[in-house]
Amino acid sequence: MNPFLNPLFALKSIGDILADEYRIINWDRQKLEVYQSKKLKKIVRYATKVPIYRAKFEENGLHIKDINSVKDIERIPVMTRDDLRKGYPDDIIPSDFDRRKGKIVTTGGSTGKPLSIYVDWQTIVKSYGTVFAMLRANGLNWKKLRMACIGNFNPYRADQEYISGVYRAIRILPLAKKIKLLRIESHPLELLEELDKFRPDYIATYGGVLLSMAHWIRKGYGKNVKPKLLTTSGAMLDNYTRRYVEDTFGCRIVDAYSCVETGCNIAFQCKEGRYHVHSDFVLVEALDKDFKPLPPGKRGRVCVTRLYGRGTPIVRYSGLDDWIVLSDDECSCGIETPIIDKIEGRISRDIVLPGGRVYPSGAFTLVADVLYELGTFKIKRFQVVQRRIDKLEILLVVDEDMRNVGPSLDVIFKKVKEAYQKKVGDDVEIEVKEVEEIKDDPKTGKPAPLVVSYVKPDKGIEE
Ligand SMILES: [Zn+2]
Repeated sequence: MNPFLNPLFALKSIGDILADEYRIINWDRQKLEVYQSKKLKKIVRYATKVPIYRAKFEENGLHIKDINSVKDIERIPVMTRDDLRKGYPDDIIPSDFDRRKGKIVTTGGSTGKPLSIYVDWQTIVKSYGTVFAMLRANGLNWKKLRMACIGNFNPYRADQEYISGVYRAIRILPLAKKIKLLRIESHPLELLEELDKFRPDYIATYGGVLLSMAHWIRKGYGKNVKPKLLTTSGAMLDNYTRRYVEDTFGCRIVDAYSCVETGCNIAFQCKEGRYHVHSDFVLVEALDKDFKPLPPGKRGRVCVTRLYGRGTPIVRYSGLDDWIVLSDDECSCGIETPIIDKIEGRISRDIVLPGGRVYPSGAFTLVADVLYELGTFKIKRFQVVQRRIDKLEILLVVDEDMRNVGPSLDVIFKKVKEAYQKKVGDDVEIEVKEVEEIKDDPKTGKPAPLVVSYVKPDKGIEE
């Protein structure tokens, strides 16, 4: 059933989209706070109808009357990934939620067991507000763009429901002609062929997909692919990929921080390159190991609250496994929402070293820094693999056409080795080697992660 055929739904969606695009750009901090407080109270009230939340609120003696302002958020108990997983299917939605109208989205399960939650059409459509606001904040008007999205359109995947599903519903509108959806499992040359015909102003996809397309663009393919802006999400974007892609496409990458659970973007890069929270959509906290909020400047686990939506509410949810550092800086771009200084990757891919040293994977993309310093684009792809606690393998894929251009491979290998050795100490062996390719995930087609560790952390998290 096409939800846009329902005039009430269509009107509400249009109203939302018109307002959502401008709120964080035009509103000051105070006005946003009043808005957040109202929305927080509303979503907590909704959560009280959901069994797992109701039980947790009762257990912690939380009443809806305790939540009057966004500052009261600390009184709300934290919901873990396991809590939500155990509550599926009946206990993560209100008893009156119409499941026939609901949709199930499932997280990738990169952290082990996948998690499924419910959303509805309104929640899905509303999430686009964060995309449009991000574009607006970067000087673009989505209504004037030809937009391409290269996503993972498999059943139950968020891309499928949030992007492909909406596209199907609006495909009768003229707007649909300005949208092109492509699948990430396609060969980069196929993607470029499609994009070359479509000539998008804007491409949204994963960093790894852009990197592999950039490689072929450098070989002369996709000459008409000249976007004004690129966005990435889903995995952290390292400096090397960013620079390689921006240099090739001749435009900026704006990275968005998003997750399946919120459905919308949580934060995005502004013109100054800083990550602003979409704080009219999501509240973001950094928590310590006892779930206490940390002040700006301190590194903690991310905790998110989605301020809208039906189905499974996301209130003080700590299951994202990312680490963040919040900042109290004011940004010169004029947007007054909080800034996230650092977003560090998935805990499950942490590098674990002798002596209980655990580092987030984001701290191990040193290859990118070395290549950046050497000013070379000779390496097409790289990956850091840890199979033993005392050994790291650094895999590099060399661009054949550039093998004899710029700094020699010996120099690159030596510098890469030095950088890692310095980081991990002498008790860990570093092996840098050239490989022919780094394979993407055969099941999902998702680009292979930059850092993979098969060593389980058994000593917990240490700074
Ligand atoms: Zn800014």
